[in-house]
Amino acid sequence: MVTTNAKLNAFPVFMRVKNRSVVIVGSGEEALAKARLIGQSSATLRIVAHEADASLRDWAARNSAELIGQDYRADLLDGACLVFAATGDEERDASIVADARARGIPVNAVDRPHMCDFFTPALVNRAPVAVAIGTEGAGPVLAQMIRARIDRMLSPALGPLASLAAGLRYRVERLVPRGSARRAFWTDFFEGAPARHMEVGHISEAREAAAQLMQRRTEARGHVALIGAGPGAEDLLTLRAQRLLMQADVILFDALVPEAVVAMGRRDAERLAVGKRKGCHSKSQAEINELIVSLGREGKRVVRLKSGDPLVFGRAGEEMAALREAGISYEVVPGVTAAFAAAADFELPLTLRGVASSMVFTTGHDLKGDTLPDWGKLAIAGATVAVYMGRSIAAQVASRLIEAGLSPDTAVAVVENASLPHRRLFHGTLADLPSLEERTELDGPVMTIIGDAVAGANFENSTPIAAHRLVRVAA
Ligand code: SAH
Repeated sequence: MVTTNAKLNAFPVFMRVKNRSVVIVGSGEEALAKARLIGQSSATLRIVAHEADASLRDWAARNSAELIGQDYRADLLDGACLVFAATGDEERDASIVADARARGIPVNAVDRPHMCDFFTPALVNRAPVAVAIGTEGAGPVLAQMIRARIDRMLSPALGPLASLAAGLRYRVERLVPRGSARRAFWTDFFEGAPARHMEVGHISEAREAAAQLMQRRTEARGHVALIGAGPGAEDLLTLRAQRLLMQADVILFDALVPEAVVAMGRRDAERLAVGKRKGCHSKSQAEINELIVSLGREGKRVVRLKSGDPLVFGRAGEEMAALREAGISYEVVPGVTAAFAAAADFELPLTLRGVASSMVFTTGHDLKGDTLPDWGKLAIAGATVAVYMGRSIAAQVASRLIEAGLSPDTAVAVVENASLPHRRLFHGTLADLPSLEERTELDGPVMTIIGDAVAGANFENSTPIAAHRLVRVAA
């Protein structure tokens, strides 16, 4: 049974430390760890260390902490607001604890919870915003895990944004009526245009956007984020993508976007599959363009998820043009494109010193005409070629490149379902590539990489492309 109303034995508070001093007694690693923690605040730090370790001395010098190289004496605690006993010696720690208590100063003895008046939290610092995690000493590892999760959720720009908010509070109180209008203002401030400007370090634009919000010269306007969802593994998503997903009102996603990524949105966010799969378009591109524009006009925060990177064979160009024309604000969040995921699976250096120094992203579908497209010449000159959507035209790609002069022995790597646990890796040469079309068992997305750099890959987990090659009878 899980108890739901257990009481805390240690209650979290935020103590004012500005212009006050904190004393740490100790000369080793524990003292340094506490110094680093308290060093995140503006408290004056006094370290009492008879023979301080070099690393502690360095830290104190670099962070302008006062280092007292004397034996500990009780009067060195005078005037402190907090004391840490970190000598590593139980008896000495106990006497420091007694001295601090005699002076009415709360004290913490490192690694001796029974002697502590207070515990230090695991800290997520976005000054002036802080998230402190405490477990009453039950699990420092647990606290660090929680810390890491919260750290990922909060933008690095949150601190400056909160400072801006603090600076505006008085004006907002004058200009924006209390109640729902003011709540709406702050929501828009922290999740809308001011936050977006701050995210990229544009402080004066953020200020201007806040001023506009205050005067309601602009309604809370919609915003569209074109986001790369990565190649398939959900943890290849960027932190920025994850944050925007959690704020979205509507999430539009393509067929290849991993379900787990779509699930990261708020539970009440609307989710729309607009996914195109080869041969079955559930919505035309024009319909998708119209949809994101109209959602933006309704004031929605829209996330448009595309597999891989949104700017690589993602038709983002058309969506951005539609948004620009409609005057709806948008941003682009890059993602890990399939070629990079496939290369990683194969431990394949896409550029290789002395072998390949340029790279081509192509679909191969432009090889149909009579003239070889420019990238064909690049391939012949040694570029590494990544072919998207190329499975069904593998034979054509191979024969045109060979015709044009690329050696039939050029190395080729093929990855189906790159980055996913059930990925499959194949290797061979350009001459083997046509047999890819016969592999009807490949029903996931396929990436083909061609070029001499492929020879530098790791073939331990791959099988020959041509293993199932049909024997053709020459006519
Ligand atoms: N914007 C996407 C590409 C979309 S085009 C990106 O940047 O990755 C779709 C093509 O991408 C597929 O036909 C396939 O060639 C490739 N692709 C996408 N995900 C893939 C994966 N997990 N493994 C191999 N190829 C993939």
